[in-house]
Amino acid sequence: MPPDDAVLGLLRDLVAIDSVNPSLVPGAAGELAIARRVAEEMRAIGLEVHVAEVAPGRPNVVGVLLGASAGRALMLCGHTDTVGVAGMHRPFEPDVRDGRLYGRGSQDMKGGIASMLSAARRVVDGGGLRAGRLIVAAVVDEEHSSRGAEALARSWRADAAVVTEPTGLDVAVAHKGFQWVAVETRGRAAHGSRPQEGRDAILRMGRVLSRLEALEHSLRTGVTHALLGPASLHASLIHGGQELSSYPDRAWLELERRTLPGEPATAAVNEVDRILADLRALDPEFEADRQAMLARDAYEIDPGSALPADVVDIARRAGCRAAIVGMSFWTDAAILGAAGIPTVIFGPGGAGLHSTEEYVLLDDVERCTQTLVALAHRTTSAA
Ligand SMILES: [Zn+2]
Repeated sequence: MPPDDAVLGLLRDLVAIDSVNPSLVPGAAGELAIARRVAEEMRAIGLEVHVAEVAPGRPNVVGVLLGASAGRALMLCGHTDTVGVAGMHRPFEPDVRDGRLYGRGSQDMKGGIASMLSAARRVVDGGGLRAGRLIVAAVVDEEHSSRGAEALARSWRADAAVVTEPTGLDVAVAHKGFQWVAVETRGRAAHGSRPQEGRDAILRMGRVLSRLEALEHSLRTGVTHALLGPASLHASLIHGGQELSSYPDRAWLELERRTLPGEPATAAVNEVDRILADLRALDPEFEADRQAMLARDAYEIDPGSALPADVVDIARRAGCRAAIVGMSFWTDAAILGAAGIPTVIFGPGGAGLHSTEEYVLLDDVERCTQTLVALAHRTTSAA
């Protein structure tokens, strides 16, 4: 069943607003205009609205619906920022065709935001909540460093949360984490004709790379998570050297390690440290350092616990497949989970995540909305 005009109109509005993350794309619009539209929608619904600036011109917006009596709190959380639009034709002109809505952010994740807000509207239209409260949070900066979700987790509590990232209406209970590490090898600059004076930093980085390749192989053939598969790593960026006729004095590598739930926050740094120590032991002239960069934990919730079981049950009644799955990408669920809020990821599907043609399935937006309405009633009235 397609969504009604209110849902579709809201989704169109959200996709039409440029909210490219300015930390990803310098000078980009950011989340201010979309935050205003979200706040306006929340006020129209009758939610109590809290706007909190996370960075200059980049506010989180939180809307609260109070039930008639005390009870449990359900949080619905989505990010308002999107990735860039390079190569797209009309990224901010939502186009409805064949049951899909096209445009940047339609799937990731304005479809999910439209579902959250529409669910709140339907709860109010249906007479409100008997107990507890519904918290609808639209946060900034997920596509860069999730400062929005971090700020949210510092000031809001809930008994359960749904992050409405695109899962194709499956119920995601786990995703990987990531850790970024930079490695620098040092040599000695010299004229290319003077090997007795030069020391080649790039060839020394080659030693690091071959160790990383062996590590990558052992990760992929090692421990496997039932929903997420094995951990992995890749060398993302590399540079070094000055010009063709000189020995390079420095080479720089940045790598990404994708982690499984339960791996330590320092897994990648520890692995790099072991590699560098090994290489130093083999060659006292080998000089290198590493630097830990951004790291984010993996996430996992027991699929047999109350929240995933409720979402599966309700979503199946709404006609969703609602399989228990793991997601390949990182989400704000890890931040909410780390703050002690049991969280699942459940949102409308589509295609073209971060690519030049992105769409969300309109039937999915409707089924997601229906599921969130029923979940709000069940979670908030549970003893
Ligand atoms: Zn997303």
